[in-house]
Amino acid sequence: MKAHIVKKAQQMLKQAGLKRTQQRVDILTVLLGAKQPLTAEQIGRKLRRNAPDKVTIYRVLENFLEAGLVHRAYLEDRSWYYESGDRCTQLQCHPHFTCTKCGLTRCMVDSIIPMVKGLGRGFVVHRQQVRLEGLCPGCA
Ligand SMILES: [Zn+2]
Ligand SMILES: [Zn+2]
Ligand SMILES: [Zn+2]
Repeated sequence: MKAHIVKKAQQMLKQAGLKRTQQRVDILTVLLGAKQPLTAEQIGRKLRRNAPDKVTIYRVLENFLEAGLVHRAYLEDRSWYYESGDRCTQLQCHPHFTCTKCGLTRCMVDSIIPMVKGLGRGFVVHRQQVRLEGLCPGCA
């Protein structure tokens, strides 16, 4: 794992007021280093021998969600895909584009989608998440 990503993970935990346990640092480092959202299982596989058991990974992810460090990007095949929230704004996650041919999902961190309008009275948006489907450049 790259030292500067580990350092960033430690800083994020400190800012969130979470104790910097090895497991938390490891899991957040994996998420910060990932190019796309990951399931708990994929996080475990990336940690190989150092991987905590699945229950622990889920518990740490719950801590991170509550602290706002991590977002659930989307649900696929009954598994949540998690990612670090550092490339999202307060109210909006960056969109995710899934290629229907190769199945790859990408983080569209540079694209701009306006916030939803016209929801009507009484609705309060906490987070806007957009999922796009289509063909990636390699498949189009
Ligand atoms: Zn997000
Ligand atoms: Zn594709
Ligand atoms: Zn993303």
